[in-house]
Amino acid sequence: PLDSELLGRNTWAFLHTMAAYYPEQPSAEQQSNMTQFISLFSQFYPCHKCASHLREDLKTNIPDVRSNTKLSQWFCELHNSVNVRLGKVEFDCSKVLERWRDGWED
Ligand code: FAD
Repeated sequence: PLDSELLGRNTWAFLHTMAAYYPEQPSAEQQSNMTQFISLFSQFYPCHKCASHLREDLKTNIPDVRSNTKLSQWFCELHNSVNVRLGKVEFDCSKVLERWRDGWED
């Protein structure tokens, strides 16, 4: 059976790392591709309940694809909205690049 906690932990690691290493000054094409990636991701994420929440969220919460910093903040806030829904503590988004790019001990 699908372990949605393990999948979630690993997927967040991927998404936050992808955002941290996204360009500082992405081209118009890169911005459009990232927006599409997130939309396509929300169609195929294998935790279907999670994916359905995400698609609902994306209707009003447009990904900020203007830079790595902005995209990292956007994913951090998205993750926090899931944290709140699950009764987990919110993460301090000022520390998101420290956590996912520059490194700290977890
Ligand atoms: P996780 O929430 O997986 O976090 C992993 C690590 O990320 C943490 O240890 C922390 O260091 C860091 N972190 C925490 N918050 C943030 C943040 N805001 N920004 C940056 N880094 C952070 N589960 C459900 O039950 N229902 C859902 O609807 C649901 N929706 C999901 C949607 C998506 C897109 C994804 C990727 C996962 C979803 N999950 C959902 C799974 C859930 O978010 C967790 O991944 C899972 O519960 C395991 O939680 P965890 O406590 O191990 O830490």
